[in-house]
Amino acid sequence: MHNVKEEAQSLLEKDQKNVWHHISKYDENTHPMIAKEAKGSWITDHNGNKYLDGMSGLWCVNVGYGREELAQVAYEQLKDMSYISMSQSHLPGIKLAEKLNEMLDDDYMIFYSNSGSDANEVAFKIARQYHQQNGESSRYKFISRYRAYHGGSLGALAATGQSLRKYKYEPLTSGFLHVAPPDNYRRPKGQSVEEYNLQKAEEIEEKIIWEQKETIAAVIMEPLITGGGVLIPEPVYVEKVQEICNRYGVLLIIDEVICGFGRTGRTFGHMHYDIKPDIITMAKGLTSAYLPLSVTAVRKDIYETFNSSDDENSHFRHVNTFGGNPAACALALKNIEIIERDNLTNRAAVLGDRLRNELKELEAHPYVGDIRNQGFVMGIEMVEDKETKEPAHDGRVKKIISDCKANGLIIGRNGDTVAGYNNILTLCPPLSSTDADLDFILSVIKKVFKENET
Ligand code: PMP
Repeated sequence: MHNVKEEAQSLLEKDQKNVWHHISKYDENTHPMIAKEAKGSWITDHNGNKYLDGMSGLWCVNVGYGREELAQVAYEQLKDMSYISMSQSHLPGIKLAEKLNEMLDDDYMIFYSNSGSDANEVAFKIARQYHQQNGESSRYKFISRYRAYHGGSLGALAATGQSLRKYKYEPLTSGFLHVAPPDNYRRPKGQSVEEYNLQKAEEIEEKIIWEQKETIAAVIMEPLITGGGVLIPEPVYVEKVQEICNRYGVLLIIDEVICGFGRTGRTFGHMHYDIKPDIITMAKGLTSAYLPLSVTAVRKDIYETFNSSDDENSHFRHVNTFGGNPAACALALKNIEIIERDNLTNRAAVLGDRLRNELKELEAHPYVGDIRNQGFVMGIEMVEDKETKEPAHDGRVKKIISDCKANGLIIGRNGDTVAGYNNILTLCPPLSSTDADLDFILSVIKKVFKENET
């Protein structure tokens, strides 16, 4: 006879002895959740506790957990042909590339990798080589934004704008520059949102000029900064950045690792704006994290410079073993089919609106400074003082998160920064969440904030 508690305790001990957890310090008082199964929006742990996963794992399980049709597709593909490297090709890889182009409504070449970091590294290498092949080898620098997260490998981390994640691993890849993103809630008093956003875009132009325009390869940005605190720009910002990039011959890389696949209420986050990215990176929602897969989508005319030259070394010298695994590609296709069939992109918009409307009452809470969302991704910015906007102290933010967890709801928190903006709670539930799931999220958040008014 299994004793559930004993089994859970024994697992915990083995975990503590052998498993090095991501991004958290070993602490014997805060046990990790040891998950046993997950279905829909819910995770059950080995003690039998159930949690609604208000963060879709790491912002990735767009279609929800435990869909048998996804498991089935991967199983069938693994049985038929488990592996072919992407120096060759295969049907699921071809079909997925074709499908992604249909979704992008354009002609991109699809390069497969395994993770969001990989996809961004590939984008950086392609951008540098592209400029070299165009006779502009001086263009090697990238501009990204403070507070953004673009991955953990040394290049993607260099692009990342969160110092606490970086400073112990320096020197990182050289040639990465940062500017501040628009943070509309904290814009200077008296400045309109449009003026402020325009000014922030112009700071990118200033950076290009100060750094010598012939040295800039690309700008990389998310459609909205997700992990850095859910910072949603005005269209004028994104469209101005595109115009500046065009004017200076700088490529625009859009990181859709979180914003893609319906999350923001559009197929891709950049589709809220009138822009045409040169390179688009995708991961997470591409397979809803059932299997690892990522994509770097590259405009056709950029790709063509890699093939047209007489130089026999003009091809892209990059390979990774696992990228484009046939089962992952087949699963991604099914995942996209589910998103379309179940109308989950529209559902993200509907659920996001409901979340936003019903949480409006939190604006009166003494420690809530701002609530913002685009589709089904939300940030609740906590402050000590609504007038000065001093970020809420660590303990206050942690208390809300742990009280939510005690009530069965997992929520997230803005990635760390030395600037002190670690005060933003994040919500990014599966797009497949039911109305009852949303009711649950709302009831827990309202209850927890009510209990934490002093
Ligand atoms: N870009 C963004 C916007 C991300 O949020 C992340 C991961 N959180 C990455 C890139 C890196 O993805 P991965 O963890 O799969 O390497």
